[in-house]
Amino acid sequence: MPLEEYKRKRRFEETPEPPPKVEKKSSHRFVVQKHRATRLHYDFRLEMDGVLKSWAVPKGPSLDPGDKRLAMQVEDHPVSYFDFEGIIPEGNYGAGTVMVWDVGTWQPLSPTPVNGRYVPGTDTEAAAMLAKGDLKFRLNGKRLKGDFALIRMKARRPGSKGNEWLLIKKHDDNAVEGYDIEKDNTSVLSKRTMAQIGGDDESAEWESDRPAARGKLKAPWLAKAVAKLDQKQRMKRSPQKVQGSSAEKKTKNAKLRRS
Ligand code: MN
Repeated sequence: MPLEEYKRKRRFEETPEPPPKVEKKSSHRFVVQKHRATRLHYDFRLEMDGVLKSWAVPKGPSLDPGDKRLAMQVEDHPVSYFDFEGIIPEGNYGAGTVMVWDVGTWQPLSPTPVNGRYVPGTDTEAAAMLAKGDLKFRLNGKRLKGDFALIRMKARRPGSKGNEWLLIKKHDDNAVEGYDIEKDNTSVLSKRTMAQIGGDDESAEWESDRPAARGKLKAPWLAKAVAKLDQKQRMKRSPQKVQGSSAEKKTKNAKLRRS
């Protein structure tokens, strides 16, 4: 089941993260979230098949083709996660501060270069490349641009989960030698630093509460998503739908008793 692991790991009555909804249609967005959990890392997510395929990158992505960045594949995330920024409360899975470090669109590249250059490919090719463990794609983000590859490493030790990939920048006009990710230390959505996000009591609320940040979102696909988040925010303020599990029901009943 898609997003089953995402759902299993989280208590949605406690975390501001979005629910495990699989989208019927996929566009080609990507997001990189800076996540100060037990260890600081960057989560790299590509929208495919109605979910966000996700990798945790300890050192973060790089524009330097000389950097081969370890990327641990983690559970698929719902598409609405792509502009989640805020605080995952203590005691919850992934507890800590989340910043939207980059957003944009991606396109699959054909596995076969033409005259030494990569050319756009199809979604079918992307699905095959992902399954094979050698996914080539082009990013058009605010910070990350150009051609990249995600390459699955061969499981070297017994017991290895086979979830270790490398995220590598291809040589092209967007390559930056000696790229330093620390120079870009603010949110592309809210312009806030990790400290500002982490120290702000209201930051666990959806970014859509902040008109100042929204004014700068010019991309139509992003504006639409933000409008959806507004709607979610309104729903959050009204009584929640209960989703079956007895634990959730108990929590809801407790909330009702309190109110
Ligand atoms: Mn993470």
